Amino acid sequence: MAGPTTSTFEVRSPVDDRLLAEVADFSPADVVEAVITLRDAQPAWEALGPKGRARWMRRLRDWLLDEADHLADVLQAESGKPRAEAQLEAPWMAELINYFADHAGEFLADERVGHSGLLSATKRMVKVYRPYPVVGVISPWNYPLAMPGMDVIPALLAGSAVLLKPSEVTPLSALELARGWREIGAPPVLTVATGSAPAGQALVDVVDFVQFTGSTSTGRLVAHRAVDRLVPYSLELGGKDPAIVLADADLDRAVAGVTWGALFNSGQACVSIERVYVEDSIHDSFVARLTTLVDGLRHGEETTPYAVDVAAMATPQQRDLVHRHVTEAVADGARALTGGSPTGIGTGYRPTVLVDVDHSMACIREETFGPTIPVIRVADADEAVRLANDSTYGLSATIWTRDLPRAQSIARRLDVGAVNINDAYANLFALTLPHGGWKTSGSGARFGGAHGLRKYTRQQAITAPRFPTLEREPAWFPYSRGRALLTRRLFHAVAARDLRRRIPRFGRTDPPR
Ligand code: NAD
Repeated sequence: MAGPTTSTFEVRSPVDDRLLAEVADFSPADVVEAVITLRDAQPAWEALGPKGRARWMRRLRDWLLDEADHLADVLQAESGKPRAEAQLEAPWMAELINYFADHAGEFLADERVGHSGLLSATKRMVKVYRPYPVVGVISPWNYPLAMPGMDVIPALLAGSAVLLKPSEVTPLSALELARGWREIGAPPVLTVATGSAPAGQALVDVVDFVQFTGSTSTGRLVAHRAVDRLVPYSLELGGKDPAIVLADADLDRAVAGVTWGALFNSGQACVSIERVYVEDSIHDSFVARLTTLVDGLRHGEETTPYAVDVAAMATPQQRDLVHRHVTEAVADGARALTGGSPTGIGTGYRPTVLVDVDHSMACIREETFGPTIPVIRVADADEAVRLANDSTYGLSATIWTRDLPRAQSIARRLDVGAVNINDAYANLFALTLPHGGWKTSGSGARFGGAHGLRKYTRQQAITAPRFPTLEREPAWFPYSRGRALLTRRLFHAVAARDLRRRIPRFGRTDPPR
């Protein structure tokens, strides 16, 4: 495995700023060297076939489950998230491996295709899925194990070697993943290149496919660079997800669902609920119940496991951004019914319900990525849909109502990549569904059944003769004048789907029409 230069950077706890580790800071030259090594190892990995690779992935799954507690420790230390949330990521990776490993053979199998006309009728044709040799994965800090894993695992299963550049904020879980890969004795087709933006840029400059998850602004830079090299890319970017709560909603479920959907991981999720549109007739009771529930949540430093519901934010910058959105909104006339300030412990921020917000405020227009729930009163579902669509983002949305057929039709009017009815996050855990943002929330998608693996492959077309080959192949090529005339007539006839009229046979002459 390629070794980085001696330069390192520090990883610190967001809760108390204690030093957790010093890790290698990959220079662009280190990244290039790592990719050369991966390229060498990839053909043998591809040659293992889907079933051979699936065996290695299942060993990794067992390692993840054996190490789940330790992985949760690492995750919690570097991200500051509550124990209950830190424990979710390793089992989620196991679920992902189970699905894609079980289906890899089917999803990547060669496909026989039929001919499309006379020109291809003599051929036996097959479509083959061949992996991009080296896939570069760049990931953010909000789910330090799951975010890298969600892309690394399918890319490896597809037959690619993978260079992973985790966030410089939370690189330790990704390094654990690499440790697991080594400890199970798997082929050297996974390298973790720790570092910050320069390492990410260098990765885009050398890999064959870029899978990026992060902010919309960085995604744009990555896309420009990939386009320059003409390498394909897939972007999972930011969001500003709306929730629409209709008058007939089950209020208890809507309040609990919106609270969880907005505050899970302290709101640091791309699919976090960041705007809530509530129909006028239930607005006041919804807000009252929401405020009571949010106010009762336990927050702060988690000194014993499961002691808090909402914990630290991953970085001081993120906490400050959240506070800017809240203070600007309040300065412009909004009210914080609960929360509205940092906890004073590390990067903690009090869960905040905002009302009297309007659509021009940063807390509605920009991604907050924090524990805030701005609520807007709407006259009816039409106004909710109009406002929900009034955003540059289009990641996902939720609808809360007892009228499921109506929710289905409202969903089809929302300009977002996914809609969950009476639930939050649900689409994310359905690997048979695509997960991809519309508008500035992304380009391409992860998951979606076979697409989840095939996105890391190029389609190769192979033709072979269907019949014994003639001496002078290709048989239809017009070497002589007579043959040229015959070929022309034949092609014209077949193209016109009118063989009988255009080629009089055995004296039969249909009159031309
Ligand atoms: P970020 O864009 O700042 O960084 C993401 C990654 O890109 C990091 O590894 C970073 O080092 C790297 N990077 C930075 N500059 C780069 C450059 N010029 N070239 C290449 N790589 C570069 O994002 P973040 O702050 O780490 O994560 C939060 C963002 O991620 C939010 O906007 C959130 O919505 C988004 N996100 C989206 C999804 C999704 O699936 N849509 C999931 C999780 C997070």
